[in-house]
Amino acid sequence: MLKDKVALVTGSTSGIGLGIAEQLAGAGAHVTLNGFADEPLVASLKSRLGALGGSRIDYDGADMRDAAAVRAMVSAVIERHGRLDILVNNAGIQHVAPVEDFPVDKWNDIIAINLSSAFHASAAAIPAMKAARSGRIIMMASAHALAASPFKAAYVAAKHGIAGLTKTIALELAEFGVTCNAICPGYVLTPLVERQIPDTAKARGITEDEVKRDVLLAAQPTKDFVTIAQVASLALYLCRPEAAQITGTTLSMDGGWTAK
Ligand code: NAD
Repeated sequence: MLKDKVALVTGSTSGIGLGIAEQLAGAGAHVTLNGFADEPLVASLKSRLGALGGSRIDYDGADMRDAAAVRAMVSAVIERHGRLDILVNNAGIQHVAPVEDFPVDKWNDIIAINLSSAFHASAAAIPAMKAARSGRIIMMASAHALAASPFKAAYVAAKHGIAGLTKTIALELAEFGVTCNAICPGYVLTPLVERQIPDTAKARGITEDEVKRDVLLAAQPTKDFVTIAQVASLALYLCRPEAAQITGTTLSMDGGWTAK
């Protein structure tokens, strides 16, 4: 379905980004991975994704806090393949603390990784997509792009920003055959969520089991976590020709969270 298409997925050495990279490779795309990883992990991811689709798999370790590195990574993909068909702005981190105690360095990192890197990568990708009159930009937003939770000031601010950036890019590119959409998952059990459980327990003065039951799954009427494969399938669908008229949207996959 995506044979010879060229895809770049930021933050794809773990969690949701890796799941999306796997499905894109499985559909035949050339995929460039990004994210923190040591050499053995990069080698094993490359061979695993290569085996899924036989496509070319590359890795770029650009730090999403570094605007110049983000732009250079996108340029390098375009130089390598002569095109970029699919950009998935997925890299993200979390930190949980009350606003008055929120560490400034964490605020700056979250805004840089979860919001600004998507701006820089998109800005670097758009000229090639416009020239090709085709392309897909997918933002990994969150239910937190549409609703807030306490103690997540930077994350909620960044994800609400991503929703606005998505709509703006969609409008600017609407007549160029390029779509831009934001996927808004509820809780997915990835390392990002597992890491915030102890901090949330501390911030709220409850146990880690209570965080899972009374904070995380309490938000989701289905009382179930979203899976990585479910999110990745939606990303893959957005890359299909059938999705050409879906643009500028925030697509919820949150077990009913934002229906409340
Ligand atoms: P994860 O921690 O499993 O993966 C995050 C990825 O981003 C990793 O590959 C990591 O190396 C990379 N990364 C982090 N900092 C980076 C940096 N400075 N430079 C380059 N790469 C960096 O997390 P995840 O849960 O898979 O999250 C992926 C995205 O999905 C994030 O944008 C997150 O906000 C979003 N999301 C997650 C959930 C959830 O419940 N897990 C829900 C909604 C949205």
